[in-house]
Amino acid sequence: MQEIERIAKKYALQNAVQHNGKSNAKAVVGKIIAEKKEYREKAKEIYITATKVIQEVNRLTLEEQTHLLEKLAPELLVKEKKERSFELPPLPNAEEGKVVTRFPPEPNGYLHIGHAKAAIIDYEYARMYNGIFILRFDDTNPENASKEYYDAQKEDLRWLGIRWDKEYCTSSNLPKHYQLAEDLIKKGYAYVCVCSQESIRKNRFEGKACKCREKTVDENLSLWEKMHSEMGTGEAILRLKGDLSSSNTAMRDPTLFRIIDVEHPIQGNKYRVWSTYDFAGAVEDSISGVTHPFRTKEYELRDEVYFYLLQLLNLRKPHLMEFSRLSIEGMPVSKRKIKPLIEKGLVKGYDDFRLPTLRGLKRRGIVPEAIKQFVLSQGISKVESVVTFDQVEAINRKIIDEKAKRFFFVPNPVKLTVEGATGEKKRLKLHPNVDLGSREIETGDVFFIPKDDVDHLRVGEVFRLKDLYNVEILEKNKTVKGRFAGKTLMKNTSKIQWVTEESFPMTVYIPRPLFIGDKYNPESLKKVEGYAENAVKNLKEGEIVQFERFGFVRIEKDNGLVGIFAHK
Ligand code: ATP
Ligand code: MG
Repeated sequence: MQEIERIAKKYALQNAVQHNGKSNAKAVVGKIIAEKKEYREKAKEIYITATKVIQEVNRLTLEEQTHLLEKLAPELLVKEKKERSFELPPLPNAEEGKVVTRFPPEPNGYLHIGHAKAAIIDYEYARMYNGIFILRFDDTNPENASKEYYDAQKEDLRWLGIRWDKEYCTSSNLPKHYQLAEDLIKKGYAYVCVCSQESIRKNRFEGKACKCREKTVDENLSLWEKMHSEMGTGEAILRLKGDLSSSNTAMRDPTLFRIIDVEHPIQGNKYRVWSTYDFAGAVEDSISGVTHPFRTKEYELRDEVYFYLLQLLNLRKPHLMEFSRLSIEGMPVSKRKIKPLIEKGLVKGYDDFRLPTLRGLKRRGIVPEAIKQFVLSQGISKVESVVTFDQVEAINRKIIDEKAKRFFFVPNPVKLTVEGATGEKKRLKLHPNVDLGSREIETGDVFFIPKDDVDHLRVGEVFRLKDLYNVEILEKNKTVKGRFAGKTLMKNTSKIQWVTEESFPMTVYIPRPLFIGDKYNPESLKKVEGYAENAVKNLKEGEIVQFERFGFVRIEKDNGLVGIFAHK
């Protein structure tokens, strides 16, 4: 029996460590029986023992579980890392050295974690096969594109650790697009439509053709020419002759080109006819040599247009792949949802740390490696699901835990005066088990401790100032009076964080979900005032540290130091 318990314990710990602190009975029983085949007959007994052990394990913090597992079965900890090596499955029809992928952002906003998913998958596949990765700006809507976004998107991709072999703008291929369009018109596959948007929508819905569809090739060619010269924004579009009776509405004569007479950040006033996503996406994937273009599942209905167009144009058909769009509970993972928040002033900008933009995440202390591991752990499944942000946090915690220096920060500080205080000069390590150096703190008889802790202390009770000594509470009013109560570590006393008078006031901002359901959360930004120990003053902008018993925090300089809360 003891043996079962021993084995159950190590697997329960391993399973808990792998699943954010919560172990699962079924998984553990499976592992036990896999190790000891002879236990198969005793499945029920095993299950009971495992459940008991799991209850104990689940009561521990993730940190304690990790430490214990390291002690009991370090090999499982290592294996765990391997098991979650976040590898993508092989690509179909892929040949070493011949895979070409691309990431095609529209330069109409800042990148968010959903884009990171796409970019990382594209990039990793190119690397996996020693292929080529292209960064392509899909910038054929001059109304949306802005120079600021091209630059920002590149900067953010670099921050993610992504490097590209080629970079170009779709808009620079417009002459080629025109040539192909003319080809379609000449073969009778496309026509210029001058109907109103409303009637186009209505006809499309009803599966009806309009008069424009009957025009001759010559009429279309002449109208096409006029689209470039005398017609104005919105006056005409070029449509594909698809299938108006198709059950797939995307095939009902989709728009290929439209007139938008607006200056373009790169092309200036050179063009006024712009290719749509349907046209540009398919054509660019094909002519730039992309072998495995990925897009999100919401485009699935447009696949038919994609391939039909390439067939008509006699262009190579890539192996189009799809994955699900990333959605995170309480977070707007879409430029379309982020933009209005900024415009209404509900967040402070693209780098607001409540946003899932890469800039927001960076400010919030999420490191690029965590984003990468998170994205790869999601894989390329097409199943739409909403994940919670704590999955990102759990991965991030594992990465930064070993690197973050520890400091004392006292939220909502209450003054504590200690009678008979021994003046101490304490050298405290900056990390409990990694050598990150130390700092010295001198103590007198005045301290500050968190109000939360004070609320739980009774007069007469003895507690410990963490890493220092014991104090007995004498009086509790607006401030606390106490008496030195020895240095011996005693069982069952609470350990309380403290700072001395040599500390400074610091604000920590805590980002909360921006949405609850689909309503904006007016309490999405919490602010905690506290005192930080003086050593915090020497930290650099951007450093991520742990405020003990409070959480991981990223340091920013903004008229003095502020902290942005990452996670516990
Ligand atoms: P948004 O709503 O954020 O504007 P988009 O698809 O219009 O999304 P693009 O700049 O056109 O944004 O997207 C570039 C690439 O990133 C596309 O391949 C797109 O499918 C992918 N992408 C965008 N958002 C997500 C997401 N939430 N999850 C996964 N991939 C995404
Ligand atoms: Mg888009």
